[in-house]
Amino acid sequence: MTNETQTIQIAIDGPAGAGKSSVAKVLSKRLGCIYLDTGAMYRAVTWAAMEQQIAFDNIEAMTQLLDTLELNFKDEDGVQRLYCNGIDVTEAIRTPEISANVSAVSMIPIVRESMTAQQRRIAQGADVLMDGRDIGTTVLPEAQYKFFLTASLQERARRRGLELEAKGQAVDYAQLEADIALRDKKDSEREVSPLRQAEDAELIDTSHLSFDEVVELLYHKIKK
Ligand code: C5P
Repeated sequence: MTNETQTIQIAIDGPAGAGKSSVAKVLSKRLGCIYLDTGAMYRAVTWAAMEQQIAFDNIEAMTQLLDTLELNFKDEDGVQRLYCNGIDVTEAIRTPEISANVSAVSMIPIVRESMTAQQRRIAQGADVLMDGRDIGTTVLPEAQYKFFLTASLQERARRRGLELEAKGQAVDYAQLEADIALRDKKDSEREVSPLRQAEDAELIDTSHLSFDEVVELLYHKIKK
């Protein structure tokens, strides 16, 4: 897909818990571009399939689900919320159950096809910052700025754990590490558009950087 209109496209990929979404939210506001959380879209498909008790390997039913699925991001009081067929699923897609099942859904070729098409449509004619797993490699291969954000597994689990604790949830850190590692393994090993650093993406290890330092670093790289 070429970026014929010369809009700004920024791709941030990386493994689970690397802080992509938190950084992307702040960075997109500062840069004044649209932010698209592509992981939320795969989570919403997973939520809808589970709600409708569709077996993920039932491709006919999954295709029907995708045909009728309407995903809308809306900014409400400065917070981006996601609606799935009119239902606000912003919190519902963040449960451990969805996290445990999302890789099985995101590996289905028809799901990737549908999400990629929607993501490219949203990117058309607008300055956009997307975060995910395959933005630099597949969704926006022509993006002018590509970053691959990572951090050690322990650090990613620690950050995710703190987020969950802030929401009042009890956290088993060993379990969290195992869950994150398994999700990364599944996302990296799938056949279609696996989690991979694009050849022209810049690797940023955030293990020893604070949140603000990561935002500043990317902001200045883009502004330069
Ligand atoms: O970013 P987040 O952790 O919310 O993503 C949830 C899941 O969605 C990932 O583990 C992966 O299976 C899938 N995903 C993907 N491609 C993307 C973004 C997310 O396959 N571009």
